[in-house]
Amino acid sequence: AHEGILRRQSLRESAARTYARSLPIVPVRARGLTIEGADGRRYLDCLSGAGTLALGHNHPVVLEAIRKVLDSGAPLHVLDLATPVKDAFTTELFATLPRPLADDARIQFCGPAGTDAVEAALKLVRTATGRTGLLAFTGAYHGMTVGALAASGGATDVRVTRLPYPQDYRCPFGIGGDRGAELSARWTASLLDDPKGGVPAPAGMIVEPVQGEGGVIPAPDAWMRRMRSLTEARSIPLIADEVQTGVGRTGTFWAVEHSGIVPDVMVLSKAIGGSLPLAVVVYRSELDAWQPGAHAGTFRGNQLAMAAGAATLAFVRENRLAERAATLGARMLGRLQGLAASHRCIGDVRGRGLMIGVELVDPDTDEPSADVPPPAPALAAAVQQECLRRGLIVELGGRHSGVVRLLPPLTLTDEQAAAVLDRFADALAAAAR
Ligand code: PMP
Repeated sequence: AHEGILRRQSLRESAARTYARSLPIVPVRARGLTIEGADGRRYLDCLSGAGTLALGHNHPVVLEAIRKVLDSGAPLHVLDLATPVKDAFTTELFATLPRPLADDARIQFCGPAGTDAVEAALKLVRTATGRTGLLAFTGAYHGMTVGALAASGGATDVRVTRLPYPQDYRCPFGIGGDRGAELSARWTASLLDDPKGGVPAPAGMIVEPVQGEGGVIPAPDAWMRRMRSLTEARSIPLIADEVQTGVGRTGTFWAVEHSGIVPDVMVLSKAIGGSLPLAVVVYRSELDAWQPGAHAGTFRGNQLAMAAGAATLAFVRENRLAERAATLGARMLGRLQGLAASHRCIGDVRGRGLMIGVELVDPDTDEPSADVPPPAPALAAAVQQECLRRGLIVELGGRHSGVVRLLPPLTLTDEQAAAVLDRFADALAAAAR
């Protein structure tokens, strides 16, 4: 069955799909961190549905919440109508939001993917400000629909001004650290204030507090605060894309809490649906300039996703899984940094909480101008395959696909974390040989 399914899928399915397509696994069962394939092999899943599975696969509280709706006779789909399930989800979500946004927030259910919510956010700020330009960052990823793609750097006709996202490793200014972040902020301010700067009047600025697909790059807290004050002073709505960073992943419930900023708009998806598709935009009520029907859509009322999501949010909150992600993530980073000390092919190890990236490089490059060695995508792909041979699923990311990404569930135990890192170290040694 395993081989047949893989063969038929590779024949029938479009090459346009991405996530994990190169992994020859046919999952038939899953629980927590573990996936079992049709061939009986078991894998530790550190891809977690691209960060969706905050509680891992088939967590009992998630299954219970879904069963409860199914057994209750409640409708599974009623478009935008109010239901007890939706009410419970929204109440739970609002209880987690940073104040003062929580006290003054409106929610728009979008649907059902992260990119839909990004699209809604972009439309919302265009409507509210009457402007059409957009400020977005180098290395960003916001999705695959036209507006979200424009924000990510894809060529479309949305007028985007691309600003330098600060990073230590491969800093666009070749500086990194506080100084690099400071230059990024100054560049942004001077560009916005230059009447001849060629910046189309921005309807908003969209930022990931930690870039995920871009290669796991956490923005410095001080820089996030600068972006907040820069945009606030110029009445530019700030949109935080927390599709991947939300629900405890980075060590706080929402990643904006690290810097303490309060965005005007938050885009949320992935983990908020507790494994099922759900996406929302939350925003200051002042921005709610939409007329009824201005942003409609059929599949925005997924009752099962709301129930699974409410159960997930409550479980993360009650069990302090964000704090757990912070401590366990720091420990895992420490061990990976130890590995980097003995492997020259590891250029950088970085992350926040349980969002971790290991950048692989070619240390023996003879490229004279490189201040850091060039990325090694082929090595990263080899490490991914060696991980797979050892029963570990990891994802690749970064602008050159040279970053191995770990996004384990927040329920990861110490023993599981050790097993993941043991397998990773083995795979690295095999691939780098
Ligand atoms: N924003 C961010 C930060 C993401 O990481 C992603 C998906 N990886 C998206 C938006 C798009 O979400 P989706 O794939 O559900 O459309």
